[in-house]
Amino acid sequence: MGRSRVVVAVVAALSLALGAAGSAQAGVGLPAVVGQVPTSEKVVFITIDDGWSHDPEAARILLEKRVPVTLFLLPGAASYDTGYFTRLTEEGRASVENHTVSHPDLTTLDAVGKDAEVCGAGERIEAAFGRVPRLLRPPYGAVNDEVRLAAKACGVKTLVTWTHDFTTWGETPPTPRLKAGDIVLLHFTPTLAADLERALGAARAAGLKPAALMPHLKAAGLA
Ligand SMILES: [Zn+2]
Repeated sequence: MGRSRVVVAVVAALSLALGAAGSAQAGVGLPAVVGQVPTSEKVVFITIDDGWSHDPEAARILLEKRVPVTLFLLPGAASYDTGYFTRLTEEGRASVENHTVSHPDLTTLDAVGKDAEVCGAGERIEAAFGRVPRLLRPPYGAVNDEVRLAAKACGVKTLVTWTHDFTTWGETPPTPRLKAGDIVLLHFTPTLAADLERALGAARAAGLKPAALMPHLKAAGLA
């Protein structure tokens, strides 16, 4: 395992060097970076990040309303109450995806560092939740072609950013008018229940229904 990781890193470095040598094909064959899903269906995508706060009220809303959600969890944040999240995946309609091990700006790391963060998180999420994550949310939405290449080497099909952040960071942000295919960003913070209600209200007001992300990414040819 350790050896194949090194090989992957070397191949990544080589292909980047080749790409930098004037190829007009930058980005070809790399996983897509998606901040909004092209769709004709009246759907929005609710995503919730990190996992540090485990609010029972937020879980109750997700389970009662059976909201399809994509959770980009840090393995360390999930590990001290994995049960909170497995309930959401087993009794609710949540899927758990990759958000790296320690939330770095991936564009600042070398190839080995990127590999450790993305492949490492994938392995820990698989061990905790029994499913290999195929989506990556790069912390801070920080992406470049090297990050996409590293993600691909770790089995990532799509890098997912967001259209609107509904998280209350200090002050509650103004509620935007949602459009079909928008990706809503929330966080596991103490205000998650209220932020989630605001997002669900905005979706209702726009005549949109929360939907599972992966099938729509596949339908759009982005996963
Ligand atoms: Zn995050």
